[in-house]
Amino acid sequence: MRREYNSYSDLSRHFRLYDEQSMDSLQDDHLRIHMNPNGSDDGSLQHVDCYSSIYLPTYPLLRHHNFKLKSYYSNVGNCVQCNKRLRFAVASLKCRDCPVRCHVSCCRLLTVNCIPLPLVSRKLGCLFDFVPHVAPMVPALIVHCVTEIEARGLEQEGLYRVSSTRDKVKRLRHKLLRGKTMPHLGNKDTHTLCCCVKEFLRSLERPLIPLYYRQDLVLAAQQTDVLAAEEQLYFAMVELPQAHRDTLAFLMLHWQRIAQSPAVKMSINNIAVIFAPTLFDDVDLNLSNIVLWQQVLRMLLLQSPGFWAQFLEVEPLQPACSLDDDDWKRENNYSPSLHWQSVKTYFRSMVNLAG
Ligand SMILES: [Zn+2]
Ligand SMILES: [Zn+2]
Repeated sequence: MRREYNSYSDLSRHFRLYDEQSMDSLQDDHLRIHMNPNGSDDGSLQHVDCYSSIYLPTYPLLRHHNFKLKSYYSNVGNCVQCNKRLRFAVASLKCRDCPVRCHVSCCRLLTVNCIPLPLVSRKLGCLFDFVPHVAPMVPALIVHCVTEIEARGLEQEGLYRVSSTRDKVKRLRHKLLRGKTMPHLGNKDTHTLCCCVKEFLRSLERPLIPLYYRQDLVLAAQQTDVLAAEEQLYFAMVELPQAHRDTLAFLMLHWQRIAQSPAVKMSINNIAVIFAPTLFDDVDLNLSNIVLWQQVLRMLLLQSPGFWAQFLEVEPLQPACSLDDDDWKRENNYSPSLHWQSVKTYFRSMVNLAG
């Protein structure tokens, strides 16, 4: 059995918040979550980086970090979790895959997911420039802001409707997209986080739902039969480039949870009205187009959470051959630490919570 937790009960405890369905999926061998945080792939604990395995966070993360201990002799900023300074010449943790740095003592409390950096360093403005090179391909900015917004309980009225200061949004967006380290989000205003997501989507060179793929969505929205509409939509989603599809699915699940929270007072209709111009970003924004995009967006938001979750479910990338097969690993650019480890369980739990 491949796992890097000290025992199966550790793993079960880690996912104790999840329901039986999720636990069943953990029992199932082919769905077993790959919990290897440091890239050791021989199944034993002897090569495991102690700072990755001992300091497992108390909260379930979508993906664990691949930490190494490092001492700094220059100013490297603050801890992502507590926002206090990482002290000069005192060892702290740095992730090998993403820009997260934190105190050793804060590691167990960590609520920030590991989203590996994009392969390309150019950041021209296409969605693909901002997504990790492993599925689900959702930009770090969106995952971090959404995780932080939801961690606050979705109790605040007018999320995504109330605006924030332009400067604050710009600064945060810059730090999340271009900063050398991951900023602490705990002290950011919730509306600033929402506006940051909105601004990011608005700034994309190609909108999240590109022109070329719109006709299929319109056809789906015009279907009167629910099942036929879902089928049409499914095929339209499969056609979308993966980064667009994964990000759209991730956001749909988030916006559905927002619509379900009475305190937020944002109905499906409100969300469709707010995001239609952002997601479609039409050069020809006339009234009939806006009404059409709102209709399409309403249809997307009314799909079941399970429909969206299916696009984010990622099978472990384990090869059929032995994991010790170095040629296979080289050919396939195999790196166990880069798997999106618990996404299946995470989104299942979200779906069940939403239901
Ligand atoms: Zn700290
Ligand atoms: Zn990381």
